[in-house]
Amino acid sequence: MVKVYNFSAGPAVLPKEVLKKAQEELLDYKGSGMSVMELSHRGKLFQGIIEKAESDLREIMEIPDNYKVLFLQGGASLQFSMLPLNLAKDKKAYYVNSGSWAKKAISEAKKIAPSINAEIIELASSEGDKFTHIPAIPTEKIEKDAAYLHITTNNTIEGTAYFDLPEVDVPLVADMSSNILGVKYDVSKFGVIYAGAQKNIGPAGLTVVIIREDLLNTAPVISSMLDYAIQASNHSLYNTPPTFAIYLSQLVFEWVKSLGGVEVMEKQNREKSAILYDFIDSSQFYTSPVKKEYRSLNNIPFVTPTSELDALFVKEATAQGFESIKGHRSVGGMRASLYNAFEREGVEKLVQFMKEFENRNQ
Ligand code: PMP
Repeated sequence: MVKVYNFSAGPAVLPKEVLKKAQEELLDYKGSGMSVMELSHRGKLFQGIIEKAESDLREIMEIPDNYKVLFLQGGASLQFSMLPLNLAKDKKAYYVNSGSWAKKAISEAKKIAPSINAEIIELASSEGDKFTHIPAIPTEKIEKDAAYLHITTNNTIEGTAYFDLPEVDVPLVADMSSNILGVKYDVSKFGVIYAGAQKNIGPAGLTVVIIREDLLNTAPVISSMLDYAIQASNHSLYNTPPTFAIYLSQLVFEWVKSLGGVEVMEKQNREKSAILYDFIDSSQFYTSPVKKEYRSLNNIPFVTPTSELDALFVKEATAQGFESIKGHRSVGGMRASLYNAFEREGVEKLVQFMKEFENRNQ
């Protein structure tokens, strides 16, 4: 098997231990003579998997008892609509425009707004600075009876992150897709957290939603599938859930737990990202476009002096097994995504390659 270092922003690298365990159990899950993919989602064995997934996630994120955990589908993108549908009826909802995904969240919310008599307000934006920092948030402008303030804790494409959360009296809602389980946040500070699984949780196909119980709507939402309260009262089994993705995610939660939890993940992510940031900062050749205090631990964009050299870098790096190192098409350059399962050795090897490339192309 060829050795690759997978820098993909998602679907992303998964822990080898988890993949091996899934391989061992693939043909015969716990003596059932079937794979997890073939199990009824209403049977005892799958029930055990989804309950364990929830309890392990509760443990590693320290989710308080007054929060529901939902295992849904549709990606983080469906949450851009589902969230206002459930929470913003007849209300104002505030958004921070800190990156391309935050901008999409705003644009989707605006599409939904007229049908639920909601008003979507962009409270702060760093778009004018090409999203190279998290904007200052004028929280004093938020009206008391607003539905929520929406933030994106980690901006996957631009490589910025919140390390201090805004203090607000309205529910704080977070798209945590690209740093959930990678940075420790206090769940009790949020009203809703959502994340697509395909970065730090597991394979694509699963979306995790963590919602404070008092925010579950009692008024029906336009569709049962889009109704948090219905999904919650059915324990994420309103329809057939993505069973295999939930199983694999449970194995990842168990893996995080076995290594010491999210604090340990964050510590490792700090160490891994520092190897790359320190090298970039010491170099006259590579630059990070992001302001230091907002640098993501999980997605690290960087550039060489020219776009021609960027293209050459990507070509040569890819040929050497540095997979998916190309920056997002909207920003160009390179991006190293260093999620929990990304090995430290891969960053060290990348820096070594960067030094060689610099020497050859100065
Ligand atoms: N939000 C963020 C921060 C993301 O990084 C992504 C995906 N890269 C999305 C939302 C969209 O997620 P999905 O593809 O699961 O809809």
